[in-house]
Amino acid sequence: MGKVVAGVAIVCAAAACAAAAVTVSYRMRVRSQRHHARSFLLEFQEACATPVARLRQVVDAMAVEMHAGLVSEGGSRLKMLPSYVDQLPEGDEKGLYYAVDLGGTNFRALRVQLGGKESRVIKQEYEEVAIPPELMIGTSEELFDFIAKELTSFVAREGDDFQPSAGQSRDIGFTFSFPVQQTALNSGTLLNWTKGFKVVDAIGQDVVAALQRCIQKRGPEMRITALVNDAVGALAGGRYWNEDVMIAVILGTGTNAAYVERAQAISKCGSTFPKSGEMVINMEWGNFWSSHLPRTPVDETLDNETMNPGEQGFEKMISGMYLGDVVRRVLLKMAQEAALFGPNVPRKMLEAFSLGTPDISKIHADESSDLKVVGNVLRDVYGIQNTSLAVRKIVYEVCDTVAERGARLAAAGIVGILKKIGRDGTHSKDVGSPVHPESGKTVVAMDGGLYERYSKFRAYMQAAAAELLGDASKDVVIELSKDGSGIGAALLAASIAKNRRK
Ligand code: ADP
Ligand code: MG
Repeated sequence: MGKVVAGVAIVCAAAACAAAAVTVSYRMRVRSQRHHARSFLLEFQEACATPVARLRQVVDAMAVEMHAGLVSEGGSRLKMLPSYVDQLPEGDEKGLYYAVDLGGTNFRALRVQLGGKESRVIKQEYEEVAIPPELMIGTSEELFDFIAKELTSFVAREGDDFQPSAGQSRDIGFTFSFPVQQTALNSGTLLNWTKGFKVVDAIGQDVVAALQRCIQKRGPEMRITALVNDAVGALAGGRYWNEDVMIAVILGTGTNAAYVERAQAISKCGSTFPKSGEMVINMEWGNFWSSHLPRTPVDETLDNETMNPGEQGFEKMISGMYLGDVVRRVLLKMAQEAALFGPNVPRKMLEAFSLGTPDISKIHADESSDLKVVGNVLRDVYGIQNTSLAVRKIVYEVCDTVAERGARLAAAGIVGILKKIGRDGTHSKDVGSPVHPESGKTVVAMDGGLYERYSKFRAYMQAAAAELLGDASKDVVIELSKDGSGIGAALLAASIAKNRRK
C-alpha cells in the first residue's frame, strides 16, 4: 500500500514538473515572441521617425515642387492645377444656391440661402449618403446618374424658406474631389481616379457635361456653374467667413491642398493673367513625393497592392483611407512573425482595409490604465479575445506611430505652402503675396473627417507646425472649417452669379 502511495506521489510530482516545464517554456516563448514584436516595433518606429530636421527637408521639397509644377506642365509630381477661380466669395452674396459634393466615401447634396453681408447664411440644409461601393468601379453613366438622382430628390424637398431670386435659376457648385484639368470654371476633364475609384470610361471626359446631362434627363432645371475641387471649395468656404484664409487643406478619405497664388507666378499659363492678379491653385498634393519622406517596407507593400501603385505617395502616408491599413499591415507582420495574438493569425487581419482609421483613432483615444478600449476594438474587429496589457500597449503604440508620422508630414506640407507664399517667417516682408494689413495673419482652413474627428492627429499636426514655424507661428492660424468643401462650392456658384450681374 505504502509503495502504491509513493508511486502515485512520484507520478504526480513528475506530472507537476512536466506541467511546470510546459508553463515555463510557454511563458518563455510568449516572452520571446513579445520581445520579437517589441523589436519589430522599435525598428518600425525608427523608420517612421520625423525629427524636425527631416521635416524641414520635406518643407523645402514641397516648396521646390510647387515652383516646378507652376513652371511647366508635368514639371513636378504636384500637378498644381489652375482652378480658374480668381475671385473668392466676399460675404455679400445673395440668393439660393446648391452644391453636390462627391468625396471619397460620402456624397452630399446641400442648399444654402444667402442673405448678404449682414445676415450671411440664413439657412442651410444638407443630406449625406455613403457612395455605394459598386459605383466606385462601375460606369460613368451609373455614377453621374446616382448623383443626379440624389440631387433630384433633395431638390424636391426644398421648403418655402428657400427662395431663388426673381428670374434666377438654381445654380449648382459641383465639388469633385479627384484630379481634373479645368478648361474653364464650369468644365474640366478627369485626369485620373484616386482613393479606390476606378470608373474607367470617365477618364478624359468633361465631368460637368456628364453630370449636367444626367440632371437634365432626371428633370430639375438647374445648371452647374462651378466645378470645384474639394480643397478649392474649402478655401472658398473659409474665405467667406474670414478674409485671412489663404490656404485650405483636406484630410478626409484622401488629402489635398489649395491656396491663393499670384497669377504672375503661374508661368505655365503664359500671360493670360486674371484681372484680380490672383488664382487659386489646386495642388493635388496627395501625389507629392520626396526621398525625404520616411517610407517603410510596409508602405511599399501597401502601395503595390493598391489600384494606383506608384501614385498618391503622400496621400498613402497621411490620409484617412490608408492610416488604418498601415497599422493593420504592421500588426499582421507582428502576428505572423512574432505570434503577437497567439499561435493563429486572425483571419480577418489578412483582409486589406479591415481596420479603419476611425478604429485607430478610437484605440489612440484610450486613456484607461488597462487599455480596455484597445482590447474591445481588437475583439470587435478581429475576434481576438483576452489580450494582455503588454499586447494592447504594442497595438496602441503602432497607432500612435502611424498617426504621428502622418500628422507631422501634413504639418510639413502646410509649412511648405507657407514658405512658397512667403508666410513662414523666413522671408522679408516684401516677398510673396501681401498679408492682410489689419490682422497680419495667415489662416489655413482645414476640412475632412480625419482632421475633424481624430483629436490626437490634430494635436500632433498643430504641434509640428508650431515647431517648424517657431516665432512665425503666432501669425499663422490653422483652424477647422467644417464642411467648407461642400458649402464652398455653393458659395463660389453664388460669387460667380454676383459677378455675372455686375
Ligand atoms: P470624404 O473624404 O468622402 O469627403 P470625409 O471628409 O467625411 O469624407 O472623410 C471621411 C474619412 O474620414 C473616412 O474615410 C475616415 O478615413 C476618416 N474618419 C472618419 N471618422 C473618423 C474618426 N473618428 N477618426 C479618424 N478618422 C475618421
Ligand atoms: Mg470631402
